[in-house]
Amino acid sequence: MTKWEYAPAPEATEIVSVKDTYGNYIGGEFVEPNSNEYFKTINPATEEVLSAVPVADESDVDKAVSAARKAFGTWSSMAPGDRAKFVYRIARVIQERAREMAVLETMNGGKPIKESRDIDIPLAAAHFFYYAGWADKLEYAFPGRRAEPLGVAAQVIPWNFPMLMLAWKIAPAIATGNTVVLKPAETTPLTALMFAEICEQVGLPPGVVNIINGAGATGAALVKHPDVDKVAFTGSTEVGKMIQRELAGTHKKLTLELGGKAANVIFEDAPLDQAVEGIVNGIFFNQGQVCCAGSRLLVQESVAEHLLDKLKRRLATLRLGDPLDKNTDIGAINSRAQLDKIKRLVGVGVEEGAELFQPACDIPERGFWFPPTIFTGVSQSHRIAQEEIFGPVLSVMTFRTEDEAVEKANNTPYGLSAGIWTEKGSRILWMADRLRAGVVWANTFNRFDPASPFGGFKESGFGREGGRHGLEAYVKLVAP
Ligand code: NAP
Ligand code: MG
Repeated sequence: MTKWEYAPAPEATEIVSVKDTYGNYIGGEFVEPNSNEYFKTINPATEEVLSAVPVADESDVDKAVSAARKAFGTWSSMAPGDRAKFVYRIARVIQERAREMAVLETMNGGKPIKESRDIDIPLAAAHFFYYAGWADKLEYAFPGRRAEPLGVAAQVIPWNFPMLMLAWKIAPAIATGNTVVLKPAETTPLTALMFAEICEQVGLPPGVVNIINGAGATGAALVKHPDVDKVAFTGSTEVGKMIQRELAGTHKKLTLELGGKAANVIFEDAPLDQAVEGIVNGIFFNQGQVCCAGSRLLVQESVAEHLLDKLKRRLATLRLGDPLDKNTDIGAINSRAQLDKIKRLVGVGVEEGAELFQPACDIPERGFWFPPTIFTGVSQSHRIAQEEIFGPVLSVMTFRTEDEAVEKANNTPYGLSAGIWTEKGSRILWMADRLRAGVVWANTFNRFDPASPFGGFKESGFGREGGRHGLEAYVKLVAP
């Protein structure tokens, strides 16, 4: 069989202008850090340096929190309809500059342009539109009670969906009258800094949104700051636990969105070709660096062999390479550190005796890459069935009965998401009732909508983002 050849179709990068050096965005201005320290941010697909970004130390963090505190008075007392207009304007400008933002997201994070173009950036805009709509309707969200903003929100986000996680955090916070200090992940600061420019562009009052940069130490200083009223964190379970310990006994309100090890459950009556697409989307979307990735495949024994044949054939058609190419399915891994972690855990899988399958594919010489990978012969106790790999690696297990599927799916310390593939509506409902997961997708996977709440059970964290539920994290409810 001859294979289709794709001509290169790279997205142009001229549309993006990246500065050599950035400041932290504090009180409506880009300011040099007190620390005088900068770090380089790179393109993980080429290892080329894109820019230098400041490290915020404790005094920079303090400056940002003070700016947010200062802005809180006027922002929280502004007529809600006027606040809504600012949030709406942000959404419009994200849309207007969507192509620029998508290219920048792909350059800094390594994800395929078709994902940043069709998913990350449009969804980020959609979140701002959605919460702009709520800003002047809070009395309908909480009937009989009055919703008051909390104050200054400290927000720390990861690198896998930089702009989308920013939107999940900032949109509900400012729509409800809070002001924010946000720290993007060390490896992906650039779209957050572009967002700071957008705040200027729409004339957002200074100090309502502050963006500070740096690594874990900056994040730690931010969540620890005594004048912060709310902490919203998305990242690893390990750091989430540290933050929870740190905040115990303080007045600070906390939401945590942490890791996952989702089961994608395929019954014998499922539409198998569609299920294959769902499995591929579930674990290879964003190179599997997705908290709700369908990293454990549970297949009913009667169709397991047949389904795996189809899946392996499909894997051979995935195109790995230049993330800016519109045909690319699998982009670069976000960082060398993440690549090392994936390699280490895949090594563990092989040592544990699971059987590894990888399609033949050319790996570019520079940058961080990992081929799509399937492990069969995996048992419940294997580390690759228990630990979050956060890479394009699928662990396949089988089951016979519905009860067994539920038991295996729930056999994890996490509880963020799950997928069910079956023709029977009654079975979907029966399963959804029993799966301990914040989101359960039926005959689809990795679907997101700003109107739908997202969040975890157990070690995947607590609190919900998105939807009306997402407002609750940013308000206190008082008598009218
Ligand atoms: P991470 O190391 O926990 O980092 C997340 C953010 O916290 C980054 O900005 C990080 O800075 C910062 N940070 C690190 N140490 C900190 C500390 N002691 N105090 C305060 N902030 C600190 O996680 P990651 O490796 O970047 O991201 C992957 C993890 O995030 C995965 O486990 C994934 O499942 C989870 N995640 C969850 C969701 C969800 O919605 N549930 C969504 C996306 C990702 P640096 O960038 O410098 O490390
Ligand atoms: Mg980290």
